[in-house]
Amino acid sequence: NWEWSEFGRRLGQGSGIAELMTNLGEALASGGDVKMLGGGQPAHIPEVEAVWERRWRELDEAGELRKVLGSYEAPAGGLPFRTALAAMLRREFGWQVGPENVAVTAGGQTAFFFLFNSLAGKMPDGRQKKVLLPLVPEYIGYSDQSVGGQLFKVFRPHIEKTGPHEFKYSIDFDALEVDEEIAAICVSRPTNPSGNLLLDEEIARLRELARENGIPLIIDNAYGAPFPNIIFGEATPVWDEDLIVTMSLSKLGLPGTRTGIVVAHPDIARALSEMTGVVGLANGNLGQAIVSPLLENGELLRLSNEVMKPFYQEKSRQALAWVEKFFPEEMSYYVHRSEGALFLWFWFEDLPISSKELYERCKKRGALVVPGEYFFFGEEEDWPHGRECIRVTFTMDAEVVKEGLRIIAEEAIGAYQS
Ligand code: PLP
Repeated sequence: NWEWSEFGRRLGQGSGIAELMTNLGEALASGGDVKMLGGGQPAHIPEVEAVWERRWRELDEAGELRKVLGSYEAPAGGLPFRTALAAMLRREFGWQVGPENVAVTAGGQTAFFFLFNSLAGKMPDGRQKKVLLPLVPEYIGYSDQSVGGQLFKVFRPHIEKTGPHEFKYSIDFDALEVDEEIAAICVSRPTNPSGNLLLDEEIARLRELARENGIPLIIDNAYGAPFPNIIFGEATPVWDEDLIVTMSLSKLGLPGTRTGIVVAHPDIARALSEMTGVVGLANGNLGQAIVSPLLENGELLRLSNEVMKPFYQEKSRQALAWVEKFFPEEMSYYVHRSEGALFLWFWFEDLPISSKELYERCKKRGALVVPGEYFFFGEEEDWPHGRECIRVTFTMDAEVVKEGLRIIAEEAIGAYQS
């Protein structure tokens, strides 16, 4: 007969992201014939997996595997890994960073939990501060992370139809307002769910806005540069001490190692490692051990640029070709221009049913997607656009993606006819 605290209620009593990850994990583990187009699962790319296997053998042969598996490490992350990463960022991109700027976390997700709740939320003097998301739809994983109070202030984008069945979002800078209650600005680049890639110019304007207001700009590079670099256009990787850049080993194909990385001012990096110490003692060190030499010898960037980027670009192209095949020309459907990440983001203009209902109908037929509503969290007023969108992952095997898209098209056709 216990009672849940506010924390317990907020984090332990149902959330979009926990449900999504449960569905994803169970579907992948069952090996059944669900068309799992709902999660952010990266593809199993044989050429990349061969590198992980080789590194496993090398660690074993050098007698390091036992050390890695059998030891706690400092909560900031391993010094060799942080040093190798900082050296690569200095060498390749001219970022003025050292290991003191790098904090490892248990996945990027944990980094955001720490960052959002320590920069925003309830302040010591009682004010409630917020993180500004300049372009929703934004990553569903942010939405339920608050340990107290509304954590986000969000802004809707411009929508431009860029082709008969294509559209693109851009930040509505005229609408953005940064006031006293804003603690930080945050964007994912490329964006989950839409596959939008903020232009260098948009990033420059956000940096300026953050600097003018003395707040950090957080750039979530889960899919971005320098790795895994699942970007189909041009994006310059930028950093300075006013920026907080997060990265992850997950979309490289190592989600099971739960390795997130934050590159920030040393005070922020230090605070994050303190939080890791309190919440989890230490991080997983296997992912770090696998990739450290690949950071030193350039192999990780080569794999990103020459294997992962073209692999996902082809997956995206193929998925779009099936969309064109299965969806009727006269239907008012639009897919966001695919500029990176692992998803197609559909907008069904004037859809007569909600995207949750469309999700349910697809699910009954064995195809899992994510309803668009989830990505518009923090909105003060309802926006019908959110109910007209769904996110579809294109990383699974070709037959699964093809069959899933065929089902989605049939259900969308049915929805417009109902
Ligand atoms: N940020 C974005 C935009 C994501 O899509 C994800 C995962 O899907 C994450 C962060 C967190 O990933 P991880 O915790 O596996 O590093």
